Amino acid sequence: MRQIKIKKVLNSSKNPPKLIDQFGRTVDYIRLSITDRCDFRCVYCMAEEMTFLPRDEVLSLEECARLVKVFVSLGVSKVRITGGEPLVRKNALWLLEEIGKVEGLNELVLTTNGSQLEKQAQDLKHAGVKRINISLDSLDTARFKNITRTGELDKVLRGIQAAKLAGFENIKLNTVLMRGVNDDEVLTLVNFAIAQAIDISFIEEMPLGDVDHKRDSTFCSNADTLKILQSEYPLITSAETTGGPARYWRVANSKTKIGFISPHSHNFCESCNRVRITCKGELYLCLGQEDKVDLMPLLRNYPDNDQPLIDAILNSMAIKPKGHDFDLKRTKPAVIRFMSHTGG
Ligand code: SAM
Ligand code: SF4
Repeated sequence: MRQIKIKKVLNSSKNPPKLIDQFGRTVDYIRLSITDRCDFRCVYCMAEEMTFLPRDEVLSLEECARLVKVFVSLGVSKVRITGGEPLVRKNALWLLEEIGKVEGLNELVLTTNGSQLEKQAQDLKHAGVKRINISLDSLDTARFKNITRTGELDKVLRGIQAAKLAGFENIKLNTVLMRGVNDDEVLTLVNFAIAQAIDISFIEEMPLGDVDHKRDSTFCSNADTLKILQSEYPLITSAETTGGPARYWRVANSKTKIGFISPHSHNFCESCNRVRITCKGELYLCLGQEDKVDLMPLLRNYPDNDQPLIDAILNSMAIKPKGHDFDLKRTKPAVIRFMSHTGG
């Protein structure tokens, strides 16, 4: 991991500095993990026994709100709140309401496992959450339990209905396909998305954190998934983009788009517009690399002065790597930290 020395960056309020990295990519999107905790233990994301961070090592919700405001002042226009499971954090709604009010922010979006949506969907919509991603890896109750270890499919399905009723601009399912585990559900899951008039994205499993299975044995290529879908549906390539790594196809005569997030078969790094902040306040410049800057000491040592934080964030652009380095055949994970730590 490379360390950077914090240089003072000159700031003029007329032309506030933007986040542009050494390869000319503009960073205008942050993903903020607000907890490493979760009510599920998905097999690709967590080990069965997890040790979570002590509470004082996690950013307070006020610190999260302050960070978001600073990033928005540096040109960030989209914020995704994630985790762990963001909605199991106490008072997460307060934070979402605070962020929803930040001037200059165009899009507040959320990634959730859906377990709390039945209760919270309406309030989230009122807080200003525009779009919501809900993870769903199986429509079979027993299999859903096996994959999530602790999750209940019915509760998540009720959460999806609550999200539909709340009227978000967009609802998208996120599915991690694993060979021999749920890869036979591609068509069932897409049929469900079509029937619900919502979108679905297939995410290739990434080697983040040490889990209980060999990732190359369960790996499902999105190229193969696309072939299965093309044999069943008329798919139209879609130029639509959310500014993210997903490539989209529209299912003809339906409202559903199918996205493919393919870190292995399609390297999306050249257009990367994002950075991630963990619930400990670590600013990771790439999901698949270790380059980071610790923002928590700056938040805590300078409670009334944002300048050191601004300088550190601007300087971090110098160490944003060109790309990730995922290889499932490694005996060790590419990155030791779990997705639940970095925030998906
Ligand atoms: N708990 C929420 C959820 O499950 O949607 C938000 C956090 S979760 C880490 C965000 C996304 O990361 C989920 O869609 C999950 O499927 C995905 N994910 C977790 N670990 C992954 C891995 N190793 N490879 C690919 N996707 C992963
Ligand atoms: Fe929890 Fe989301 Fe990770 Fe599943 S993918 S264990 S729901 S953080």
